[in-house]
Amino acid sequence: MAEHRITYKFRLYPTRQQAALFEQTLGLCQELYNAALQERRDAWRLNRISVNFAAQSAQLPDIKAVRPELSGVYSQVLQDALRRVDKTFKAFFGRVKRKQKAGFPRFRSSSRYDSFTHPQGGFSVLGSHLCLSKIGKVKIKLHRPIEGKIKTLTVKREAGKWYACFSVECEAMPLPPNTESIGVDVGLLAFATLSDGTEIENPRYYREAQKKLRRAQRKVARRKRGSHRRRKAVLLLRKTHAHIRKQRADFQHKISRWLVDNYGLIAVENLNVKGLAAGMLAKSVSDAGWGAFFAKLEYKAASAGRQLIKVNPSGTSQTCACGAHTPKELSQRWHKCSECGLSANRDHVSAQVILQRALGLSVQVLSQALA
Ligand SMILES: [Zn+2]
Repeated sequence: MAEHRITYKFRLYPTRQQAALFEQTLGLCQELYNAALQERRDAWRLNRISVNFAAQSAQLPDIKAVRPELSGVYSQVLQDALRRVDKTFKAFFGRVKRKQKAGFPRFRSSSRYDSFTHPQGGFSVLGSHLCLSKIGKVKIKLHRPIEGKIKTLTVKREAGKWYACFSVECEAMPLPPNTESIGVDVGLLAFATLSDGTEIENPRYYREAQKKLRRAQRKVARRKRGSHRRRKAVLLLRKTHAHIRKQRADFQHKISRWLVDNYGLIAVENLNVKGLAAGMLAKSVSDAGWGAFFAKLEYKAASAGRQLIKVNPSGTSQTCACGAHTPKELSQRWHKCSECGLSANRDHVSAQVILQRALGLSVQVLSQALA
């Protein structure tokens, strides 16, 4: 069964010293990559011999003996650089075999060598830090939780910024094909509104749990610092938080499961887009919640073989399903279009616009694939 992978990309905030270590790691990997490429090129050009990954990997201890700097790099990261050369050559020989135009694998300049990969281990995520073997604890912004099992980590330099890309494995649980599509507008009043008009309410216990939480917070605030009673109140507050988190996660699992079971194409807004449109501030503030929901949705969609399309959120609430511009304040809950006469719940129309945008995108992708 095909393996399903999702990539999660997070911004890293290395200290100056850590950034220098990243650069150093990239430089050493690039050097190794080019040296491995050179060896293979020479072997092929001079003797028509192909050197394989195992043979190159076996030389690493000897190379380290003459280049001690390499010992400052996690050894699997070095192996991965060799693995990349291997992939490039396999692709090259594949093209030769199929009698396609086969450009010989090329050396990489330092500007084009911009990532290194931990293929198995040597890293872990602890709170707001990514712990990297040989480098240390690097600050990471986990803007959404990771669903599934982390397999590899790639540290990447992009326009002077650093990113951690986790490749996460999804269990493959394919569902029979489904041609139904749906747009989902996550909201502030209802949990979500669908393009067919369905409203998914926030569960009732949300409000009760919020009340409980406020009571627990007040209790902590009232009690004297350092007292036994305060410690007890803090414990209660923590328990209440954990309970709410679990309830929320359960609810999000249930809704995402239902969507994936019933629809072949699911359209949502891409709330990670920089500079959310006017009126989207509230959504971006509660982003953590939506991020967690979308992560569950993405994971389930990928493992079931469903399409999840994230569209540009700009103006989804200010556009009619007919395409007309329909400006409205945040407080205005009803949509009325003077162009086509559509009169409906504001979020219902937004969900339709989200679906339209997604269908537009999937048509583009399809026509590009056919062209
Ligand atoms: Zn209209």
